[in-house]
Amino acid sequence: MTPRASHHFTGQSIESARRALAGQLRSAQLDEAELDARILLGAILGLDLTGLIAQASRTLTEAEAARLAQHAQRRIAGEPVARILGVREFWGLPFRLSEATLVPRPDTETVVERALELFRERRMSHPPRIADIGTGSGAILLALLHEISGAFGVGTDLSLSALDTAKGNAAALGLAGRAAFVACSYAAALRGPFDLIVSNPPYIPSGEIPKLGIEVREHDPHLALDGGNDGYDAYRALIPQATERLAPGGALIVEAGQGQAGDIETLMMAAALSVDRPPKADLAGIPRAVSARKMPP
Ligand code: GLN
Repeated sequence: MTPRASHHFTGQSIESARRALAGQLRSAQLDEAELDARILLGAILGLDLTGLIAQASRTLTEAEAARLAQHAQRRIAGEPVARILGVREFWGLPFRLSEATLVPRPDTETVVERALELFRERRMSHPPRIADIGTGSGAILLALLHEISGAFGVGTDLSLSALDTAKGNAAALGLAGRAAFVACSYAAALRGPFDLIVSNPPYIPSGEIPKLGIEVREHDPHLALDGGNDGYDAYRALIPQATERLAPGGALIVEAGQGQAGDIETLMMAAALSVDRPPKADLAGIPRAVSARKMPP
């Protein structure tokens, strides 16, 4: 912690404030100090990288310096940049966040990619119907609706607050007319049939949560992380529910935690789904998106 942080940026130029902030974040052992400093400063000033460079010698106002110091303290205390700013990009789209939503991860874009791959292999005569179980900020559902013109989607969540956030994101992305949001456990309130069902359910074994990094452990909602004793509670509940609600030929695509893909496939096969391809790996090579189809009877 740096108790001096609140005075540090007064009277500084944009460039020296950026360097000072990066230095503070580096001393706090943050891996992405340079990047975080640029994003936080840019957000306060409403400038992108080019703007930060073009205006490098401009002096910060008192208010800007004070806000920067507040953001610096929060970041140094372990709060992720996305939480401080309340927004995170996913699939190239901006998503507002709340305390009730996970920060969408780049890994989760693998689920979107696999869903699109399965969708594009199928010839459909109707607009696709999509369900996202435990939608959070709406990231997966809204990315799919953005990609698939004419598709209609429903997102469910136990948290009303998350559903509000997702609704706001749908509106901001111009997708409100094709998205609905429902409070329920998994898919309980949905009827289907759906052509695609997607989910990034909670999958961390309860006992592992205290060992997660501070950014996740203290800032992501535990409802969205905690997968019960062995981490599979959500899969055991949602796979049978999703199977019942899939159209023949429709696909279920779920995110897996590291090392979980094989057991999830076993649960899918036990529900009589057809696992017809290996999981799709994320950029780190971890099998991340597990998928299966419901075979026509
Ligand atoms: N991917 C998140 C993490 O690693 C976990 C999200 C989840 O449980 N679905 O922290």
